[in-house]
Amino acid sequence: MLKEYIDVLVIGAGPSGCVSASYLHKNSVKIKVVEKTKFPRLVVGESLIPRVMDHFDEAGFFPALDAMNFEKKLGARFIRGNEVCIFDFSDKFSEGWDWTWQVPRADFDNVMAQEVIKMGIDLEFESEVIDVKFEDSNSITTIKDKEGNLKEIHAKFIIDSSGYGRVLPRLLDLDTPSKLDPHSSIFTHVKDINRPEGEEGTLISFDILETEVWLWVIPFSNGNTSVGVVGPTSFINSLSENKDNVEALKNAIQLSDYYVKRFGGVDFLFEPVKLENYSRSVKKMYGDGFALTGNSSEFLDPVFSSGVAFATESGMLAAKLINRQLKGETIDWEIEFTEYMKSGIGVFTTYVKEWYTGNLQTLFFHQPENPDVKRKICAVLAGYVWDNENPFVKKHDNVIKNMAYMIQQEQS
Ligand code: FAD
Repeated sequence: MLKEYIDVLVIGAGPSGCVSASYLHKNSVKIKVVEKTKFPRLVVGESLIPRVMDHFDEAGFFPALDAMNFEKKLGARFIRGNEVCIFDFSDKFSEGWDWTWQVPRADFDNVMAQEVIKMGIDLEFESEVIDVKFEDSNSITTIKDKEGNLKEIHAKFIIDSSGYGRVLPRLLDLDTPSKLDPHSSIFTHVKDINRPEGEEGTLISFDILETEVWLWVIPFSNGNTSVGVVGPTSFINSLSENKDNVEALKNAIQLSDYYVKRFGGVDFLFEPVKLENYSRSVKKMYGDGFALTGNSSEFLDPVFSSGVAFATESGMLAAKLINRQLKGETIDWEIEFTEYMKSGIGVFTTYVKEWYTGNLQTLFFHQPENPDVKRKICAVLAGYVWDNENPFVKKHDNVIKNMAYMIQQEQS
């Protein structure tokens, strides 16, 4: 069997893997990326948040991504019947980027993968990791290419950024149930033939159909729009008796007073994809010779579009820690990786939970708006969840619950 010897193996060429690969390569670490599919490939996760721009910039991807003219995302709109709440990322508590993009991920991820190749990084498409054996921190990974040829990759460290492939969580039995309730989603893209002129046409929106059920509308600069429905798995399954995803998504669109005219009669560009019980968690995020990043570790919920941001945050951080470790430093992975990531994940976990209890919706739609509260929540929604100066980060455990309670008391 062919053998290759490298410093770091990156599994998966999604945003997490590409960011890690770029950072390590720039720091003269010998790396290889293996990717199961051929790019471009379809993947969900099209609404980004500003924090990702820090990572794309640091990884050197910004100029190539910017040249694609993806739709700019300046904020987000939440709709509940006649009520509307718009967040503007330029009006937020924390310092940081005030815009990002809304993107068809197939094209977006392909740009990053091609940049990785241009940098001279060895990225092998259509090669799947099928086995990993550890000898202390060194590892031997078996990969299989599309012709069925096997190869052994000997590495000092593995970054598992395989997303829902979850290579190491499966092989090392690291999966653990998510703390969130089981939710599912069905989505597709449409040719947005009824798109209105101006901001209304391009604004990213979340239309609340019931407290726990919402529709996403993510317009792209190529004239297509992503439309998806999210809710408790039992609700999503009830949308079609025959488990027909086309019928289910059409039925969901009918429930949206706001969007039924725009999307009720349009054709879907591909068979809607169902992602059932999408939340994931792991028992540990690192071990001797490996780190889990992006969706291979934790995925919460699409409601605040935090998935790619956590994927690039963890990918960039893991790469930095590995670089230091390979250069002789001792790294406390528990403190520098797990605790750091968990503090950000903890903030978003609260926001997701409080979204589905309805408490956060109470704050979003309360009139008159409180500009100070809105700026602080906006910083969280932009992904700046490590800014402990922000009481909506620092006291996330209680602040939403308490404020929603006060509003409900005032209204009763
Ligand atoms: P991925 O982008 O999934 O990349 C992983 C790569 O690993 C893939 O290319 C895969 O082919 C490869 N791979 C898998 N197995 C192997 C193997 N054995 N060998 C080699 N390669 C392998 N996030 C957002 O930020 N915004 C959103 O609006 C959003 N909406 C979402 C909606 C839903 C319904 C769901 C479920 C998720 C959503 N997400 C969203 C989350 C987002 O999809 C992920 O967080 C993000 O794609 C994770 O990036 P990643 O790099 O970790 O993994």
